[in-house]
Amino acid sequence: MDIFPELAYRITNPLFRHLRKDGRKMEIYEKAEAYWCQASQDVDGMLGGFAKLHAPDIAVSRVFLSNLKKKNLLQSTDYALDCGAGIGRVTKHLLMPMFAKVDMVDVIQDLITKSDEYIGTSEGVGEKFVEGLQNFAPPEKRYDLIWIQWVSGHLTEEDLISFFERCKEGIKPDGCIVLKDNIVGGDKTLFDDEDHSWTRTERELLKVFKDAKLEIVSKSLQTGFPHDMYPVKMYALKPAK
Ligand code: SAH
Repeated sequence: MDIFPELAYRITNPLFRHLRKDGRKMEIYEKAEAYWCQASQDVDGMLGGFAKLHAPDIAVSRVFLSNLKKKNLLQSTDYALDCGAGIGRVTKHLLMPMFAKVDMVDVIQDLITKSDEYIGTSEGVGEKFVEGLQNFAPPEKRYDLIWIQWVSGHLTEEDLISFFERCKEGIKPDGCIVLKDNIVGGDKTLFDDEDHSWTRTERELLKVFKDAKLEIVSKSLQTGFPHDMYPVKMYALKPAK
């Protein structure tokens, strides 16, 4: 340590704690990107090897969105945004049949490129953004719906809160945000060393919504998945009054 007094000082001084935290965070984001760069560019790859989840996932999401419409929680279906869209599985099968136009955002360029082929050309495909959700700001007041599925675990808690805050700016005045993700039981968040993501408890997610000043207007549990999987929940969120 004598050789690197400045380094030793930085490592031990609490004033530099945020730098260590940021370093760890950047490392996790980089490793997650490395994982998704080598994932297979198909439905199986998007679902971590569980292509059989695709049909029940889309069917149950469709019912959830129809119910939001029935309850007047989703008033128009002009424009949606698919976050962590990958090759566009959700865009193609859930959002495009329901919305006039759908934008996509993902951190991996190759997956967004692959979506051209997977979805095909259609007037329904809008802008494709390549950016991490930790930095991405949706265009203001553009969307009726922002759909965030199986990607929230890639963001640290504070980045997820600020992403939600930017999503609130991205929806139209009566727009809606939906989060669909795995939930772990008990009270401990899990970290997956393979794809470098967190699986959160419901309590933690509720705290994130509260901190982002969002309220849950509808909530539902995914059915039809194998019982040995994490429960998957959908939350429809609007800015808290
Ligand atoms: N939501 C899609 C894909 C799920 S796979 C579906 O349900 O089919 C997870 C996706 O999140 C991958 O495409 C991966 O590239 C993307 N992703 C991972 N970390 C991200 C980040 N920080 N910002 C944006 N996208 C990210």
